Amino acid sequence: MVAEKGTISINTENIFPIIKKFLYSDHEIFLRELVSNAVDATQKLKKLASMGEFNGELGDLTVKVSVDKEAKTITISDKGIGMSAEEIKKYINQIAFSGAKEFLEKYKDTQDTNQIIGQFGLGFYSAFMVAQNVEIITKSFRDEPAARWICDGSTEFEISEVEKEERGTDIILHVAPDSEEFLDNFRISQILEKYAKFLPIEIEFDGKVINNPNPIWTKSPSELTEEDYKSFYKELYPFGEEPLFWIHLNVDYPFNLTGVLYFPKVKKDFQLNREKVQLYSRQVFITDDVKDVVPEFLQMLHGVIDSPDIPLNVSRSYLQADGNVKKINSHITKKVADKLQELFRQDRKGFEEKWESVGIFAKYGIISDDKFYDRAKEFTLLKNVDNEYFTIDEYREKVQVNQSDKDSKAVFLYANDANQQDAFIASAKKRGYDVLIMDSPLDAHFINALESKLENVTFKRVDSDSIDKLIDKGLAMESVLSDDEKKQVEELFKAVAGNNTIQLEALPTDELPVTIVQPEFMRRWKDMSRVSGQND
Ligand code: ADP
Ligand code: MG
Repeated sequence: MVAEKGTISINTENIFPIIKKFLYSDHEIFLRELVSNAVDATQKLKKLASMGEFNGELGDLTVKVSVDKEAKTITISDKGIGMSAEEIKKYINQIAFSGAKEFLEKYKDTQDTNQIIGQFGLGFYSAFMVAQNVEIITKSFRDEPAARWICDGSTEFEISEVEKEERGTDIILHVAPDSEEFLDNFRISQILEKYAKFLPIEIEFDGKVINNPNPIWTKSPSELTEEDYKSFYKELYPFGEEPLFWIHLNVDYPFNLTGVLYFPKVKKDFQLNREKVQLYSRQVFITDDVKDVVPEFLQMLHGVIDSPDIPLNVSRSYLQADGNVKKINSHITKKVADKLQELFRQDRKGFEEKWESVGIFAKYGIISDDKFYDRAKEFTLLKNVDNEYFTIDEYREKVQVNQSDKDSKAVFLYANDANQQDAFIASAKKRGYDVLIMDSPLDAHFINALESKLENVTFKRVDSDSIDKLIDKGLAMESVLSDDEKKQVEELFKAVAGNNTIQLEALPTDELPVTIVQPEFMRRWKDMSRVSGQND
């Protein structure tokens, strides 16, 4: 048989319901799409004006959203470029033909065209998720008659000439009976708050402008004051506590990334506010589930990141496995490490004061990310029971002469409950040893991570054996108890505790003649399973 070539055809009647129903999981996004189109139309006009292709009066460019409960309509009006009847046929009637993309291609050699949001030529049709009829009344910025287009969601449409004085477009949704929830002002303002809060053109609803068109992440750090960062934090999280410090991200090569990440105050019990990092693309809210874009150990940070280079699928959720996503992820890790290093070098005292919060991120990072560890080992702090802070190197220096084991590894003694282990700490200090405090829920994992990375260091929990065995100086220690006495006491303890695994260690001191010990690995294993249990 001779090969035959052909063109695949699409049956619009069948594909249309699929676009309307299945492209977007969430019906509320119709408003994001239509407001984004209004913003795009306005940005295009501003762009044309700046290039001298439009010489008329720009006037007030505010995009207006309104709800008419009685007429059951939602209207989105802009004063952008508008469309002629021909343009409606080209851009609206042809599904998946994007005027945004065409505009970008036409002007790709001129700067900042990346302010245009649209790209797939499908967003407009999300209107039919909530509307039984969609009406467009529009007048182009060129001197052409205004046009009206109406469609009931079938493949038929009607187009006619109409009276409209002002340049721009009104999109009128005649809301379907099953979508009347969207005729509620509160609902609409919530949706706008979520998606449109930082769109670059003013959006008015209910007589008020609802957005901040110039959020600080679009500005350069040099124009901003400390107050600006703090008040932006309040704008993002009105009920949040003041942040500790922040990082302004501002990259344009090899990918475009802007944003401000805030370090929150973290309490010991790990209770963080529910605020999350928000991901934007060209100032349109995408998601607050920033998995893969932000490294896991930094997902407790707060703030905003914006990148037009994170590829979005048609429904504007992002593609997590993409190469740029990975690059952005490691860039963020690097920036955070840089910032912590800078704070540490510039103001050690201030850094120590923040360590309770910062330490949680740093420890989590060390546990989960080797690259981060390479940077963080310089500024990671260890605190001892006397509330003194040391870097890892400083601490090794401090203890290695006096505290080493048979293999001449430095022994880092630690307590994870200073009250309960009081007697053991006292006994260690009496011998001139130093004891760290490791009482955060992450510490058991943190210790394991450090032990595997640091040669010549071993961690011993201060009550895991007799001090003289933990730090073996090779000196024979005489117990104050005879062997027989020791055995008797041991039997007694086993009987009382009902536990046969107890081992007794008799010590050469009067204030602590015997201790119950349990091997280090059993101790730490318990601590670690306690943490994992909490996370479940
Ligand atoms: P996209 O925005 O991805 O290009 P849409 O389906 O959202 O796709 O819109 C298709 C096209 O219709 C736009 O690219 C634009 O050319 C035109 N359009 C939609 N809304 C407006 C509007 N409010 N003003 C002017 N043109 C519009
Ligand atoms: Mg669009």
